[in-house]
Amino acid sequence: MSVLLVCDHDRGVWADANDEGLTAGRSLAEQLSCDLHVALMGEAGEALAAEAASGGAAAVHIATHPHLSDYGSDAWADALAAVVADQSPVAVLAVGTDRGNEVLAQLAARLDTAFVANCTVVEPGDDLWKVTRSQWGGSLLEDTSIAGGAGPYLLSFGHHAVEAQPAAAPGAGTVQIHAVELDDSVLVTQVKDREGASAGVTLSTAPVVVSGGRGVGSAEGFGILEELAGLMGGVVGCSRAVTNLGWRNHTDQVGQTGTRIAPEIYIATGISGAIQHWVGAMASKRILAVNTDPEANMVAKADYAVIADLHEVVPAITAEIQRRRG
Ligand code: FAD
Repeated sequence: MSVLLVCDHDRGVWADANDEGLTAGRSLAEQLSCDLHVALMGEAGEALAAEAASGGAAAVHIATHPHLSDYGSDAWADALAAVVADQSPVAVLAVGTDRGNEVLAQLAARLDTAFVANCTVVEPGDDLWKVTRSQWGGSLLEDTSIAGGAGPYLLSFGHHAVEAQPAAAPGAGTVQIHAVELDDSVLVTQVKDREGASAGVTLSTAPVVVSGGRGVGSAEGFGILEELAGLMGGVVGCSRAVTNLGWRNHTDQVGQTGTRIAPEIYIATGISGAIQHWVGAMASKRILAVNTDPEANMVAKADYAVIADLHEVVPAITAEIQRRRG
């Protein structure tokens, strides 16, 4: 018996979220007294077998086919279905990133079985497994259960719901190649190109995020946030009001329809803290809000708040950091 975790990668670049998946997968496999296996799509995945093994994988299944050279949800789901048919795992897991949830939803359709997304707790039972999952963009936790059927239990763990921990001991990581058959129709969606920052920290992994909302006032107004973020080794984020206004790209947006972040410190300036923004920011370890409105939701939820004009506060923080660093 095994638990199968689908790990994400882009042309052989390991996705950070996989470390959360390995942590959750090891815990579930331990509860079931079974092995944790990992599935990687495409030949480029083979280079990541050692990474999966160091995360505790007893076996690593590499699905190979030319159509798997770049991510495509249809191709990945078809290939994963072939691995599942071969291995009959008791459960198939993913981290609830956009890709993780997309692939498991597609797999569920192929297996005609249920899929529970964004779990925070999973308690296996004889047939009914109890799960707690986050709903409505993280504003609601639902206790539910999933019944076993002919196929495996399909579950994703909420992104950032589990803190990644190193494995106590590596797994054997025995590599098994699955040369799968795929139809050309799976190419209906496939990643073709990549844009944006290829180096440095990203919004979802940055230790410091300095965000601006409508209160920043203009695209040019983000210059002071760029300066502060640069000084702190962080990146700039924003609210949806800002992307709607065309001041920043959607790739910078924090929230339900943007990126979910989990920095050590989140500096939210000129952001009211609407629920759709909050669900993307709530995994931050510490939050500093800068807002002229003491009643703003972001101020109420923050660990620290400065009630003042961000155009004065942000340059003042920058100047103080520079002064202390000499
Ligand atoms: P506002 O709500 O207008 O707040 C501006 C804030 O700036 C106010 O609190 C004000 O007091 C303060 N301010 C003004 N001037 C200054 C100043 N000089 N100094 C300091 N403070 C100042 N939003 C997201 O952010 N991310 C999402 O992913 C997202 N997804 C959504 C999905 C759906 C389906 C829907 C319906 C909405 C979504 N939204 C999202 C939009 C969300 O509801 C809010 O409208 C948005 O977050 C508001 O952005 P804001 O806080 O920048 O603007």
